Amino acid sequence: MNFKRPEEECGIFGIFNHQEASNLTYLGLYALQHRGQEACGIVSSDGGQLHAHKAMGLVADVFGDQEIFKKLPGRAAIGHVRYSTAGSSIIKNTQPIMVEYSRGAIAVAHNGNIVNAQLIRSELEAYGSIFQTSMDTEIIVHLLATAREDSLVDRITSALERVEGAYCLLFLTESRMIAVRDPYGFRPLCLGRQGGAYVVASESCALDLIEAEFIREIEPGEMVIIDKNGMTSCFPWKKIEPQPCIFEFVYFARPDSYIFGKNVYMVRKEMGRQLAREHGIDADVVIAVPDSGVPAAMGFAEEAGIPFELGLIRNHYVGRTFIEPQQSIRHFGVKIKLNPVRELLQGKRVVVIDDSIVRGTTSRKIVKMVRNAGASEVHMRISSPPTSYPCYYGIDTPNRKELISASHSIEEIRKYITADSLGYLSPEGLDMSVGAVPGSFCKACFSGEYPIKFQNMGREPQMDLFEKEYVK
Ligand code: AMP
Repeated sequence: MNFKRPEEECGIFGIFNHQEASNLTYLGLYALQHRGQEACGIVSSDGGQLHAHKAMGLVADVFGDQEIFKKLPGRAAIGHVRYSTAGSSIIKNTQPIMVEYSRGAIAVAHNGNIVNAQLIRSELEAYGSIFQTSMDTEIIVHLLATAREDSLVDRITSALERVEGAYCLLFLTESRMIAVRDPYGFRPLCLGRQGGAYVVASESCALDLIEAEFIREIEPGEMVIIDKNGMTSCFPWKKIEPQPCIFEFVYFARPDSYIFGKNVYMVRKEMGRQLAREHGIDADVVIAVPDSGVPAAMGFAEEAGIPFELGLIRNHYVGRTFIEPQQSIRHFGVKIKLNPVRELLQGKRVVVIDDSIVRGTTSRKIVKMVRNAGASEVHMRISSPPTSYPCYYGIDTPNRKELISASHSIEEIRKYITADSLGYLSPEGLDMSVGAVPGSFCKACFSGEYPIKFQNMGREPQMDLFEKEYVK
């Protein structure tokens, strides 16, 4: 896979029993755009048939034309925003996946990553299954189609018994919407109500936009079934100790969302406070790498008693690609996104807060940028521990070779990014900020302790999933 920079994973949204189901799904996806900008799609049900519209691009672009909603009729719909964590970036890999099989039509939207996908796919192919996409999610569809059980709920139960990894799923048939959160609960998923309609979303910010009332989070290992009779719920799989992803708090989720029992902004601010306790420094101003570093920077500034300023301004209108001038401008990639406010930084001892260092390139450019703007000292503070291990549960991270902290000491990283000092939040400090009992969150990206073991660990199975397909 052509990995450039870590990117977000996916977001899912569904609504059942609303006259404007597809329109509201579009809005829900709009609120979840931060979870994936590569492609998006909606499948609706009119009670007899499923209808789909999917394309590469941002939600506003793909669904910008009102006419599209006429092609997505019905009182139920599910949607997906995608940044690929498995499977290549081509149109056939957009979601929701929609299929017709012997028992009717079904659509599925997935956020997460299935770690034994390669194995199951080879097995299914050996029995004659023909795959249409390179997505790990398609395996679920094949397992469903081949399951012997009579009811859909039982077929989903038995299909998912074979699947290991991270999955928040939304299924849609002509008459039902079913939501599932995997037993580890790696990714967030919540349930809401909008009048007579039920709503399911990756994050609560999507409920807020459509004025849906937040009911509760869908629990790890829970299946929620919504149909014309209302909502029922069951826990069909073996119970295990949940391991929600702590990186959702660090970086992924929107700060206004409520996930894993907490508001993300409050947790990030507390990370900043704790970072100041652990790595306080004499300085004149605290600035953030916007947007992700802002709440932690505010917490740091508050705790350290140093003024917080918006020393770096982000251009919010930068698309995924831009045409670089032929005559190269140094650090163009970061300059087009961020620009310093010189008047705030000149002659100042500056603390720069970011949520994480992955390969170190962003921090290095930012330190240089702040220094070139006149700062007398630049102190980098990171509101999470060193990211030393790749994620296999749905977050697109580089392989271990590219993670700077996998092979460099903190002092070596400091030198590389040319900062006067560098401090990371400790793993214990992270737990405290989240209010977590140690061991109750997945922190594999920091600790290397993976809750689910799987084959081919050394081969980066997530990034190389269905490698053959990428090459085509
Ligand atoms: P790097 O230049 O590779 O060190 O990237 C660090 C920057 O990427 C930080 O500003 C983070 O906010 C951001 N970041 C961290 N994790 C991710 C991710 N999975 N996807 C996109 N950006 C990320």
